Amino acid sequence: MEDLILRADNVSYAYEDSEGMAVRGVTLGFRTGEMTAVLGHNGSGKSTLAKLLNGLYIPTEGHVTVCGMDTQEDEHTWDIRRSAGMVFQNPDNQLVASIVRDDVAFGLENIGVPSAQMPARIETALRQVEMLPFIDRAPHTLSGGQKQRIAIAGILAMQPKALILDESTAMLDPRGRREVFDTVSRLNREQGITVVWITHFMEEAARCDRVVVMDDGQVVMDDTPKAVFSQAERLRAMRLDVPPMVALGDLLRARGLPIAHEAMDVSAMAQEVLKCR
Ligand code: ADP
Ligand code: MG
Repeated sequence: MEDLILRADNVSYAYEDSEGMAVRGVTLGFRTGEMTAVLGHNGSGKSTLAKLLNGLYIPTEGHVTVCGMDTQEDEHTWDIRRSAGMVFQNPDNQLVASIVRDDVAFGLENIGVPSAQMPARIETALRQVEMLPFIDRAPHTLSGGQKQRIAIAGILAMQPKALILDESTAMLDPRGRREVFDTVSRLNREQGITVVWITHFMEEAARCDRVVVMDDGQVVMDDTPKAVFSQAERLRAMRLDVPPMVALGDLLRARGLPIAHEAMDVSAMAQEVLKCR
């Protein structure tokens, strides 16, 4: 139990002046060091769940705990926000200062880090996202992927236990998308940061440890990528797809080729195909 950094117990959430629940009866735990993808069609409740998980929203029913702190208890608000940092979709809405260094400092000022400790924290965070050489640059001169990495550094400087990223690659070009995914995946592997990766890119989900699928405010699937993506029909019924290489694997297996179900990306698939020669 203690190794669950983020935990939702029978959580429901209704927006004010709207009928029905955006999140309904969700029970979910995120273990230390795990990288989980959250999938679901538009309106399935992913963003609402994300905001519940770091205390931006308080459950209408049920409880969310972050590192054991209940989000309903006001005295924990700042500890919770810094323990479970959130990165959003649009990098331009997240950068507030005119110099990268000041941007990363912003969150630290909010949580009252003494100014003597700031430079070291800022530099470490920028190094972690491989953006230290850009410390004196103006954010508007950076690419989308670089801006997202600065936004991530701003969170890392607060030394969070978990990162929640809500479609943080959706507005990026393919290169920026890869840059940001690879950065977060490396932080997860090398530093053990727990990651909740909300995405509509199936190939990103295939690279996570675990895939949670939401539909109509509920968690309807929660398993390994391999197990989730082996249910193509069920995903299609929820207007979701499987990663391209999974679809290719299904086709090739149907033609009798012994392609392993584990081959979910291009290089793994290439190896499987070469074995068939
Ligand atoms: P997703 O991120 O999966 O697209 P959301 O969590 O944004 O889903 O939305 C879940 C449901 O809540 C949808 O029906 C959506 O219309 C509704 N919703 C989202 N934000 C608001 C809001 N600010 N006010 C009222 N309803 C909202
Ligand atoms: Mg959303």
